[in-house]
Amino acid sequence: MIYPIVKYGNPVLEKAAEPVTIFDGELQKLIADMFESMYAAHGVGLAAPQIGIAKRLAVIDVTFKEDPDAKLVLVNPEILHSEGRNRQNEGCLSIPDFREQVTRGRKVTVKAQDMHGKWFEKTGEDLLARAFLHETDHLNGKLYISHISALKRDLIKRKIRKLVKAGEW
Ligand SMILES: [Zn+2]
Repeated sequence: MIYPIVKYGNPVLEKAAEPVTIFDGELQKLIADMFESMYAAHGVGLAAPQIGIAKRLAVIDVTFKEDPDAKLVLVNPEILHSEGRNRQNEGCLSIPDFREQVTRGRKVTVKAQDMHGKWFEKTGEDLLARAFLHETDHLNGKLYISHISALKRDLIKRKIRKLVKAGEW
């Protein structure tokens, strides 16, 4: 099932999500649906709050279907380590049609549970490191625009308010 993506302005995007405690068939189905929803929206990462579910769960595929082994499920993720700096354009499915330069760690280690509850650690660089940080931020109610200047953030918010008024958001 493809879920619609929740857009900026919905409070679910700006509150901390609840830990996942039950690893059952329902969770597996949700994870499969999240991958489907992410691909349908042409994204490389999706956090559960972005489909209106306030759970600490995210899916990532920075190869966008090219490498099946690149599909990653992060349940209850925590960032263990971040090093270096990498400044790149970043966007978010919940803030469509906007992109900004965001400085993030270049090499990031995340600790998370897989879909069966087993803990693992994974280190990613560049785009994958960015995805770890971006998606974990989502689970803490934080959006990438919190990492840009107040001036740029206000400009984006003003444009979004206009789109909301016009019924285009
Ligand atoms: Zn996002």
